[in-house]
Amino acid sequence: MGGARAHWSMQFVRYTTGGTPGWGVLDDDQIHALDARPGGAPSLSELGDGAVRSAIRRDVDNGVLPTEDASAVSLLAPVPTPGKIVCAGLNYHDHAEEQNEEPPEKPMLFTKSPSAVANPGDAIVHPEGIEQVDYEVELAAVIGRAGADIPKANAEEYVAGYTVLNDVSARDAQFDDGQFFRGKSYDTFAPMGPTLVAGDGFDANAADVELRVNGTVKQSSNTEEFIFDVADLVSYISGFTTLRPGDVVSTGTPGGVGIFRDPPELLEPGDEVEAEIEGAGVLENDVVAE
Ligand code: MG
Repeated sequence: MGGARAHWSMQFVRYTTGGTPGWGVLDDDQIHALDARPGGAPSLSELGDGAVRSAIRRDVDNGVLPTEDASAVSLLAPVPTPGKIVCAGLNYHDHAEEQNEEPPEKPMLFTKSPSAVANPGDAIVHPEGIEQVDYEVELAAVIGRAGADIPKANAEEYVAGYTVLNDVSARDAQFDDGQFFRGKSYDTFAPMGPTLVAGDGFDANAADVELRVNGTVKQSSNTEEFIFDVADLVSYISGFTTLRPGDVVSTGTPGGVGIFRDPPELLEPGDEVEAEIEGAGVLENDVVAE
């Protein structure tokens, strides 16, 4: 992402140095500690507020906040326990094509359990008795402001920022059950992070998306392939369920998932998975046996 420093897209991070988690702004190899600002730790609604973001940007540019070496902290999922994780299935033209499916006429949605969240660097636990564990790199919008019946034109005002979510999926459970909840919700099946990138200066609908297993590219696309963009999804979902701060809307995955490869290439213990979205960073998680 180029452009003048004044327009750089801030990457918020939730992190810990061993004690209470805090919020910061990642700036090269430094983290500017936002909890040191007057008023203390910012809420998601503050992080999503343009005026607050401008004030934070000034504080970072002026170097008035204490800093930590980024290498000395552990980054955490931006939302440890989302109220709900609403996911779009079949939302990239290239992913619909690999399944020989027509693009859906309305978003096809399912949920993952909020307790499936894992931090950057945490293990993805391959469950005992499950054969087909798969990866899905996704751009996820973290809601910062409560809303129902949100018009598309205002939808992005309700987003605190964007992160990477790996929609890890037990395909055998997903297909055997005839619905998605179990297959999508095993513990650790929702790694999220490493940053929460602010919407100003970041185009959620034109970002490169890539997933690598053991360094080999498996998924490579751009969110320009969305069938329904972020505003479409936020507006549609808020039309039937109130969105609240800390809810996560995950926008679906591009082509290249393991189960639709010929032959299938699924995740096994020992695999190293990197899910990357341009501007939001690389989410790394290794697979371990239960
Ligand atoms: Mg998915």
